[in-house]
Amino acid sequence: MKHVIALDVGGTGMKAALLAQDGSVLLEARRPTGREHGTDAVVATILDFAAELADEGRTRLGSAPVAAGVAVPGTIDEKNGIAVFSANLGWRDLPLRKLLGERLGGLPVALGHDVRSGGLAEGRIGAGRGVDRFLFVALGTGIAGAIGIGGRIEAGAHGYGGEIGHVVVRPGGPLCGCGARGCLETLASASAVSRAWAEACGDPDADAAACAAAVEAGDPRAAEVWQVAVDALADGIVLAQSLLDPSTVIVGGGLAEAGDTLFTPLRTAVSERLTFQMPPVVVPAMLRDTAASLGAGLLAWDLLSTEVTA
Ligand SMILES: [Zn+2]
Repeated sequence: MKHVIALDVGGTGMKAALLAQDGSVLLEARRPTGREHGTDAVVATILDFAAELADEGRTRLGSAPVAAGVAVPGTIDEKNGIAVFSANLGWRDLPLRKLLGERLGGLPVALGHDVRSGGLAEGRIGAGRGVDRFLFVALGTGIAGAIGIGGRIEAGAHGYGGEIGHVVVRPGGPLCGCGARGCLETLASASAVSRAWAEACGDPDADAAACAAAVEAGDPRAAEVWQVAVDALADGIVLAQSLLDPSTVIVGGGLAEAGDTLFTPLRTAVSERLTFQMPPVVVPAMLRDTAASLGAGLLAWDLLSTEVTA
């Protein structure tokens, strides 16, 4: 069956799939990124993994893959296929598209940004299926986002589009890793909630999931910590609503695992803040940790459809 290689390179693990044109997964595989072995070893692992997936496709699906897509973290030059910088994986100006293309015998390769690829998959085959304009927000260690317009992701002029985590919602607030104060991710990321709850409950190991559980159990201190995050998040979403007017806001990442404990107060907080804006539908992401890999596969398919129509 006709398929592409889809690969998501994360800080600790790589997720891969062979993907049919309708987005269905024909084969899945995972392996550690092994960044403790250094950047060169990580790159070698990516190339080896992709080559093995191509072999698997030939053996199990009866044909070679027709393209490959790879999603990586950090700063990306999608147009030129260069992984510009990743603090996590240590590379600078890595020509990953060229390296993969050479290793895969000249196969067309798409290079994508992990969060934007995840957003693309959520918008096309996940929680936003059939939605033309959406905002994807991932609440993890930080907060990242992606702007979906007409079946594609708007990356901006310099590849920084959708960075809702660095919208300032509390001027003069907590210091952010980016150097500014009061960025959304200092208040509403899973890490921010973990930190705030650990301080409030006195257990240094308490995390965001424990905070959500305490909210559900009726702990007023947890409710207070939670509301700080929900309010900040609602402020960020309403700002995006005013600028972009998406019909759907898809919320994923670790904090979204709290389900209704997050979504019920979040929807209320968003609707309380709207004045003239049309309310977005706020929904949980569906594809969890496979979103970026699936998105990389969709980018690979897009590459072929562009080639055909170009
Ligand atoms: Zn920031």
